Amino acid sequence: MSNYEKLIPVSRPSIGQDELSEINEVFKTGWLGLGKWVFEFENVIKGFTGAKNAIAVNTGTTALHLALDAIGVKRGDEVIVPSLTFAASIQAIMLCGARPVFCEVSADTLNADVKDIKRKISLRTKAIMPVHYCGLPCDMDAILDIARKNNLKVVEDAAHAFGSSYKGKKIGSFGDLTCFSFDPIKNITCGEGGAITTPDDELAQLIYKKRILGIDKDTWSRYKHKRDWFYNVTTLGFRYHMSNINAAIGLTQFKKMAEFLEKKKKIVKIYDKEFKRIKGIEVLKRDYKNTAFFNYIVKVKKGRDGLMEFLKKEGIDSGVHYIPNHLQPFFKRYAVSLPVTEKVWQEILTLPLYSDMTDNVVERVIASIKKFFKQP
Ligand SMILES: *Cc1c(COP(=O)(O)O)cnc(C)c1O
Repeated sequence: MSNYEKLIPVSRPSIGQDELSEINEVFKTGWLGLGKWVFEFENVIKGFTGAKNAIAVNTGTTALHLALDAIGVKRGDEVIVPSLTFAASIQAIMLCGARPVFCEVSADTLNADVKDIKRKISLRTKAIMPVHYCGLPCDMDAILDIARKNNLKVVEDAAHAFGSSYKGKKIGSFGDLTCFSFDPIKNITCGEGGAITTPDDELAQLIYKKRILGIDKDTWSRYKHKRDWFYNVTTLGFRYHMSNINAAIGLTQFKKMAEFLEKKKKIVKIYDKEFKRIKGIEVLKRDYKNTAFFNYIVKVKKGRDGLMEFLKKEGIDSGVHYIPNHLQPFFKRYAVSLPVTEKVWQEILTLPLYSDMTDNVVERVIASIKKFFKQP
């Protein structure tokens, strides 16, 4: 057995026969690409979030790129984004030829610091990209207000937040453009997948075209009409659409999502209760009611890396989400001073959290951490 199989993982999808059965249904039709399952998945996203439009794509990263491209982000433009996020957020900005302008996060939530967003606005700013860290919604009223006052768009990186709510509204149901990810470790998975929601019908039509090479009718409806061979290419586009195979996995996962999230929330509450008592660990600010919990992150005030090594020896994997992007070789040309980000990233530690975690495994993680801190 490899080490990978032996360790308790940080995260892991809950997948099996149900997903395979639905993929089998796709196989029976012989139509693997963009089709019925994708449209059904989009309807499910709309129904669940309350979004007016939902466009399913092949990854969360392409959702971000497509959203930025659709609102016209281009060379010379700036997009404000926290440095403490997955590299995907930054690459999506770079793909448009635009410049990422890194902002700070709040130390207690790891969400974008609204005051710093304000400070970073320039004449070149085109959009703000907040990240709902670990599913905790950002202060969207404040961010949307800043955007309105400065004529900017907000492209939410909601890769962690499918299922989260803000002031009674589901993430994705308000705001300008919201991007979700359904990659293997996210709240639900499509294998790989993503989606964009927006209340703007015109923008949605443009995104529908752009996700499939700028072709103005999707392939499925082309085959249903007369002159079924006819199509127009009307804009720059990409090959970013979701496939029926991936949508089949997502549709099956969606049926179990409430159960997944409930289970993860229960574990988060147990972890929080135990870790709040441990000196040396700081639990992040939580909102149990509104958060669809993605990862579980705590701050280790001193010796984080030592704890990680210790946990590995105990058979428990852990991670760091994320290494700030302004410290990455490829992005450091955009580096600015971000003291909060630079301090917290040395403290953050991601511990195992997934819906198939057994009570026994949860106990093992807690026991090992208590052992490291020599606390009962
Ligand atoms: C996962 C993730 C993405 C990208 O999603 P993919 O589906 O993996 O391309 C973007 N931003 C954040 C914060 C993520 O965690």
